[in-house]
Amino acid sequence: MKTISMASGAACFSTAEIVRRAAINAIQQGYTSYGPTEGLPVLREAIVQRYQNVNNVQVSPDRILITAGVKQALFNLFRAVLRPGDEVIAPVANWSGFYALISEVPAKLIMVPTLPVDNYTIHPTKLAAAITSKTCLFILCNPGNPRGRIYSEADIKRILSILKEHPEIIVLRDEIYDLVTFTGRVPSLLEFHDEHERFVIVNGFSKAFAMSGWRIGYLIVPEKYYQTCFKFQETTISGVSPFTQVAAAVALQNYQEVLEPMQKILTENRAFICSKLREMGNIRFNEPEATYYIFADLNAYLHKKTPDGKWLDSSIALCQYLQEKYALELLAGDYFGAPGFARISFALEPAHLHEALERLHTGLRALS
Ligand code: PMP
Repeated sequence: MKTISMASGAACFSTAEIVRRAAINAIQQGYTSYGPTEGLPVLREAIVQRYQNVNNVQVSPDRILITAGVKQALFNLFRAVLRPGDEVIAPVANWSGFYALISEVPAKLIMVPTLPVDNYTIHPTKLAAAITSKTCLFILCNPGNPRGRIYSEADIKRILSILKEHPEIIVLRDEIYDLVTFTGRVPSLLEFHDEHERFVIVNGFSKAFAMSGWRIGYLIVPEKYYQTCFKFQETTISGVSPFTQVAAAVALQNYQEVLEPMQKILTENRAFICSKLREMGNIRFNEPEATYYIFADLNAYLHKKTPDGKWLDSSIALCQYLQEKYALELLAGDYFGAPGFARISFALEPAHLHEALERLHTGLRALS
């Protein structure tokens, strides 16, 4: 049986033809040497336009730094601003990459749990209680991975009203899924007034544009952090490959045309997976407003026995069982700080999605 992965962070789609062709043309035209460290003007301008078109905000191209993916943008920022003893606050559940990246710098991660009663937004009182004199940075991933929840304008205002009392705390927003939405537009942090010039945005091409292998993303930072981040780029990677940047610019310039076919499949897949999971009876989940993940509560299937007598006491064990017996990969919620859950991607080819959900149903039914 061939393995089907619902664990991957990459969608099943190939990068759009128009984007692939742009990269090939750019190579033919000689975009093959070092480019400017901060990125090509054509891409920085396309990012400015993108925020103008989608979010109706004006960003200065001088604040944009092109990076080798969002991970590298985050690592750059963490290296630039975090010092030994600093604390970073992040709501939980959250993308495991934040935890991993923070472990590479001398700062401490403070995880603030979110609850179903708050619809998994960070509660302002809990945020206020987590802030200390050592807090340097607050991370918000919007839309959130793994829950697929969109923080609304009101949610963000509530968070910012707490952070208003602490102008020294940098507010970081990871917006990598902001164009993979089903229920409406995602407000960018750039739409809010940055009185203390401490808002940082990271965004990229891996998710909405199915360009995870191209390794391209960007940082939007206030002027006071720009030079340090620039220096880090210069020292470590000299800048992202220019032909990749030309292709990324084409993706942004044609974003509606590029996103539409993928969004159509994701919308159908989302409806299908939600109805199938509901049919299974004991899986609790919220319909994702964005991203291509369902974050499913699988507690009802824990503390059960597999047909060959193995006791499943965690979602890691449950995922292992599904992988070994049904060649089906899910990502255990433990990696996101939420044991008992699993992240299930529906960015699969529809035939694979149907087959994967059959396997999941059969695997769960076999437990006693
Ligand atoms: N941020 C989030 C929230 C992600 O889910 C991921 C990928 N799983 C990344 C950043 C990494 O993005 P990139 O591929 O651009 O490094």
